Amino acid sequence: MLRAEVEEKLEWETQARIELENQLQAKGKQLAASETKRRATAEARTGPDNTRRAEEQRIEIVGVPVKTVTCDCCGNGDVPENRSVRIDSGQVFCSDCLQALRQSNHL
Ligand SMILES: [Zn+2]
Repeated sequence: MLRAEVEEKLEWETQARIELENQLQAKGKQLAASETKRRATAEARTGPDNTRRAEEQRIEIVGVPVKTVTCDCCGNGDVPENRSVRIDSGQVFCSDCLQALRQSNHL
């Protein structure tokens, strides 16, 4: 993004912020002012797009923990859900046990 565009955007955001502040109580006004200051500082350092993308990625990583299930065959309780299979009887098998099961069925 061009520097002029960034400054124009900042100015627009500041104007919008000022209009909003006029409608807020004294306490809310304080919070908005510190938020504007924080964002202006961050955007001046890294640019608005990079900052926002980095924040989104961080939220995605923190917000989606890997879900694990317990294998009913070997008892391993640390099997990632996408590496497990629920068979017809309702038992959950990890990929290792499923492979062993398939191999034994072939014998
Ligand atoms: Zn298993």
